[in-house]
Amino acid sequence: MAHDKVTAEWGELLFTDADMRERLPKPTYKELREVIDDGAPLDLHIANEVAHAMKEWALEKGATHFTHWFQPLTGITSEKHDSFLTPNDDGSILMAFSGKELVRGEPDASSFPSGGLRATFEARGYTVWDPVSPAFIKDEVLCIPTAFISYTGEALDKKTPLLRSQNALEIQAKRVLALFGREPRRVITTIGPEQEYFLIREEDYKARPDLVLTGRTLFGCEPAKGQELEEHYFGAIRPTVSEYMKELDDELWKLGVPAKTKHNEVAPCQHELAPVFEKGSLAIDDNLLTMEKMRLVASRHGLVCLQHEKPFEYVNGSGKHNNWSISADSTNLLEPGPDPEHNLQFLVFLAMLVAAVDEHADLMRMSVASAGNDHRLGANEAPPAVVSVFLGDNLSPVVEALIRKEHAEVASELRMDLGVPQLPSVLRDNTDRNRTSPFAFTGNKFEFRMCGSQQNLSDPNVVLNTAVAEQCERFCDYVAARSDEPFSLVAMRFVRHTFRDHQRIIFDGNGYSDEWMAEAERRGLPNLKTTPDALGALLDEDNVALFERYGVLSKAELQARYVAKAEQYAKLINIEANTMSYMARHLYLPALMGFSGELATTIATKAGLGISSRAEKDIVARLTEGVDAVYELTATLEAIAAKAQVATDPTDACALCRDEVIPAMEALRAEVDAMERLCGEDWWPVPGYNQMLFYV
Ligand code: ADP
Ligand code: MG
Repeated sequence: MAHDKVTAEWGELLFTDADMRERLPKPTYKELREVIDDGAPLDLHIANEVAHAMKEWALEKGATHFTHWFQPLTGITSEKHDSFLTPNDDGSILMAFSGKELVRGEPDASSFPSGGLRATFEARGYTVWDPVSPAFIKDEVLCIPTAFISYTGEALDKKTPLLRSQNALEIQAKRVLALFGREPRRVITTIGPEQEYFLIREEDYKARPDLVLTGRTLFGCEPAKGQELEEHYFGAIRPTVSEYMKELDDELWKLGVPAKTKHNEVAPCQHELAPVFEKGSLAIDDNLLTMEKMRLVASRHGLVCLQHEKPFEYVNGSGKHNNWSISADSTNLLEPGPDPEHNLQFLVFLAMLVAAVDEHADLMRMSVASAGNDHRLGANEAPPAVVSVFLGDNLSPVVEALIRKEHAEVASELRMDLGVPQLPSVLRDNTDRNRTSPFAFTGNKFEFRMCGSQQNLSDPNVVLNTAVAEQCERFCDYVAARSDEPFSLVAMRFVRHTFRDHQRIIFDGNGYSDEWMAEAERRGLPNLKTTPDALGALLDEDNVALFERYGVLSKAELQARYVAKAEQYAKLINIEANTMSYMARHLYLPALMGFSGELATTIATKAGLGISSRAEKDIVARLTEGVDAVYELTATLEAIAAKAQVATDPTDACALCRDEVIPAMEALRAEVDAMERLCGEDWWPVPGYNQMLFYV
């Protein structure tokens, strides 16, 4: 029996491997492990026995319902609860759960976005058990992680293509490793998602329709103080927040989510949670669970957790770092090994990653595109919209020397053997902190930093896995075409040529600088500034061919994803525009009219008494101009938004949002914010930035 708190509560609400071993007959447990570990087909008799054991376990933990937990194209998780209750003929009840119910569910899914897929195929969607992610209990409900597909097998969710891409990468990576004489049982990806978020007081949140309806402030003049003192980052955690973080950790540990690091972030009220990395799809499930718990636990502390990428202008927004690596039977393939042969393998994988990102930079950019993330990328607080790869001061010289074949120029500790540098000692102290790079090598993993805080991380990992699978195949073909030469020479040449051909994507400098933007353009790197610019990558012929080749997404599925993403973007911008016009008409204009009316009365009274009122007159004059401007800009925004709302083609709707609606929103905001600077606090109808960002 564990004595420390964490060990005691760890995985309490998770149906763990130990639970399965304890509760399942030995042969069934063995067969289930083969399903989980080796992807063996699932027999109904296993499902029946697992369902029974799962139900018994769940009932003991107080669960009454079960649900298939899945991730439709909105990216957030969905669930519908069914109780275990089954009536007997004699009026008594039984708590039942069958293998069929475990394996497959049929949610009434007609309201989930399908990008037109369901209409095209006239099929219903159903959920399928993903035995790789363990079941868990949340609020007395047994949650079974599932994939969501159409009757004809098209992916309707985020998870299905992720599982397919992991599979494709595993197959191709095993072929590469076989050339190195290795035959691992499994090759998996590992992901460690660092999650940023804001915490504000519930009363402030409730008083702001923009936060409630859109998750971000659509108005608000700059606070007297921002993040310029850099005191919040890693600062002492306030008691209110500390209580919240402790409860969050407890809840996550009970669910077997390995929450590890917590700290204050750069912006006031901004925080971060990082878990220990896990196997790809499981890490993403756990990130979604973490985000849900973050929101829920906040409500018990009088707080609200904001997960939008840009809740507040003038201070940093929130991202999510996708730490990614690939490992073969627990050996990290991005960790250079102790001998030249291992280093050669490391260099091959490193070169393949660089090539994958260069060749599919457009897809990488697409995979993080959203209305919310458009506020961050390129805004001097997050990586730019241009994708590049950072290798760091230790590795870059090695790569450059390899390209130039100038071994002698590399420092002596990089002693070459077979042309392979001696790497481990060099990389061990690779503690580089270049935070401006979108895709950075950080010693033994890559960190993709463009992801948005509220996004489901499946999309970027689908792109990455598939792009790397393609490079693995390219390597195997390269070697096969040179079978008469020694393998290590051929592999080394592949590394050299790959780095040489993709050198343009490597950049170690300041990613926020204007010089880099100019340089990136010279290098021919794509700069897809907004979501509408980036989404087109999903329809590009070469990209369709890539996903089809590895069985990750078909042309129809990609088309559907394009439509779903474009519609989501246009709908979000539309809701923001509607919310702005609502707030202008119902909150700001009445407040400003009230304040200026009262000043006008004061001016009249003072005039009657023969007292001058210079300040009042000046303010009233400016308020009157402002009121007129807000009034007119609101009408303009409404007219433009109406135009975008009737656009039936999602591409047209997106373009209208980007080119017309957003500029009209910005114009209205600027005018209202100018009025906020002028208006008395008692008249201002919503809490301002000073109040929201700096509470105790
Ligand atoms: P920072 O980004 O602040 O430097 P760390 O280096 O501590 O943070 O790691 C950040 C995240 O990277 C953590 O979630 C960690 O679990 C994850 N990570 C570490 N090694 C790997 C790996 N091999 N694969 C995937 N993620 C990893
Ligand atoms: Mg990080």
